Amino acid sequence: MTETYADFHRRSLTERDAFWAEQAQRVDWQTPPQQICDASKPPFARWFVGGTTNLCHNAVDRHAASRPADRALIWVSTEVGQERVYSFAELQAEVEAMAAILSAQGVSQGDRVLIYLPMIPEAAFAMLACARIGAIHSVVFGGFASVSLASRIDDATPRLVISADAGSRAGKRLAYKPLLDEAITLAAHKPARVLMVDRGLAAFERVAGRDLDYAELRQRHWGQPVPCAWLESNTPSYTLYTSGTTGTPKGVQRDVGGYAVALATSMDWIFGGKPGETYFSTSDIGWVVGHSYIVYGPLIHGMATLMYEGTPVNPDAAVWWSLVEKYRVTVMFSAPTAVRVLKKHDPALLKRHDLSSLRALFLAGEPLDEPTGRWIAEALGVPIIDNYWQTETGWPLLTVAHHIPGVEAVPTRFGSPGMPMYGYDVKLLDENSGAELAEPNQKGVLVIEHPLPPGALQTVWGDDARFVSTYWQSVPGHARRPVYSTFDWGLRDAQGYTFILGRTDDVINVAGHRLGTREIEECISGHPGVAEVAVVGVADQLKGQVALAFAVPRELPATSEAALALEGQIMKRVDEQLGAVARPSRVLFVGLLPKTRSGKLLRRALQAVAEGRDPGDLTTLDDPTALAQVKTLLHK
Ligand code: AMP
Repeated sequence: MTETYADFHRRSLTERDAFWAEQAQRVDWQTPPQQICDASKPPFARWFVGGTTNLCHNAVDRHAASRPADRALIWVSTEVGQERVYSFAELQAEVEAMAAILSAQGVSQGDRVLIYLPMIPEAAFAMLACARIGAIHSVVFGGFASVSLASRIDDATPRLVISADAGSRAGKRLAYKPLLDEAITLAAHKPARVLMVDRGLAAFERVAGRDLDYAELRQRHWGQPVPCAWLESNTPSYTLYTSGTTGTPKGVQRDVGGYAVALATSMDWIFGGKPGETYFSTSDIGWVVGHSYIVYGPLIHGMATLMYEGTPVNPDAAVWWSLVEKYRVTVMFSAPTAVRVLKKHDPALLKRHDLSSLRALFLAGEPLDEPTGRWIAEALGVPIIDNYWQTETGWPLLTVAHHIPGVEAVPTRFGSPGMPMYGYDVKLLDENSGAELAEPNQKGVLVIEHPLPPGALQTVWGDDARFVSTYWQSVPGHARRPVYSTFDWGLRDAQGYTFILGRTDDVINVAGHRLGTREIEECISGHPGVAEVAVVGVADQLKGQVALAFAVPRELPATSEAALALEGQIMKRVDEQLGAVARPSRVLFVGLLPKTRSGKLLRRALQAVAEGRDPGDLTTLDDPTALAQVKTLLHK
């Protein structure tokens, strides 16, 4: 007998503990949990209390013991023309060697290790080695520049940093070491050690007494056994920084046991992967998708994971499909931006390879527009599964799960990621009153009722108060239970499909990367020639959104050459401090910015004008000439 998805979802909430107790059996516990969910101190939640387990054991050791020769990690780099395949036994040996190095350098349980690496196997070894010994890893995206890196070093206060000489993108080498050295100079906290992976791509200076050579230490510690530390389920496993409304990024903190159970369940029920098969996520380890679905999820599930360093169009736009064919990929995960890039190339490239192994393509990170969804669905001939989630949730919140035994599959619908996943008590609330919007087709704030399911963030690293005030106190007056705000607008249709209508805060989404406009504004206003600045996200055909800056210069540039020069300097500053993803597409110089009489910047009006839309209610606008100026500039 089959159950409807709605009934199944309801059961996951009303019979919460029984539901998750069953899922907990997907992972190995050294001591079984004594309590499934401790929700007694809202808005916090603790999952699988008293149980002890280890992410590395579940991802590596247990498979290495039962099927050592099976593929675990496949690494392909079209940047340096290399491929390496590690079996579970080989992966275990690498992870143990890395763990031995860390331990020998005094890294112990609870210490932070910051990982600033490109997409190389050592990045996965490093994450898993930390998990093995109970050190807390904090991966910082390799494209981030020194100032961003420095703020993360100061927040995480790592004992050790793991980095490499260089990354590479589209054939262009990006030297990491100078960026790291600069970040350590800028940071107040000084990590005791820097472990360097030398790829032979860029020569670098070594700081005596601080910098260590990975190849040399790997050889020294090779074969040294390092047992997995059995950790209470709620021990922090990692932090991952993400942007919000303020300039300072938040360290999203995850646990051990809840994360393992949530990922194992999603690999089976949402992704429909099978142990022994190959999973290919095109993301980067610097993002949450890389954590959940390049490293931990597939490995915990006993799948081989394909880690790819390169762009989707090098050597040509068929490179991903050649990998699907070669490694018989069954489940693939990417982002709409990447598909939009492929769409600009010859569709015949999608027919060149045997894609018969592929069962589905999952897309997440930003809205999937219908033309892009339809194009890739027709080209691949497999289901395209939109899924919506956040760094904070760790795994999909809205999608259509097709692989739950005994449960009716919900059909996909273009434009909507789908329905709330099991374990998530999702509501739409009125922004002002906090009342639940029970009728369909009403726009409201998408929230999750306490407790968040296993796998979601525990807190903001080192700042419980910020966790509570940021996420749980932003929607007023909802009496029943505390609610977590996603900061996304949503709408539910009569069939229960949820549509995402954009952010409620000042976060923009550039090619699936989440950026706080405040961070970019802080960087630009640090330029001596800039008096004031507003940054907004505007729609872009390829990247979804791009940043656009409106700056009030200290002196208006006298000529267009002078304006161009100032714009160039500002862009360079953003590149250097935050990285190229954050660079505004244009910097427009204005005499004043549109503000309310109380001095609040009217970002939404700016954004509307920049996108050619009606700016809406402007009764609070202090000086109407400000917006008129912006319009003139945009149409020049
Ligand atoms: P991040 O934490 O970087 O993964 O960004 C999360 C944000 O990206 C969400 O709050 C949404 O605004 C957006 N997002 C992620 N997935 C989707 C999706 N499938 N459809 C629409 N927006 C999405």
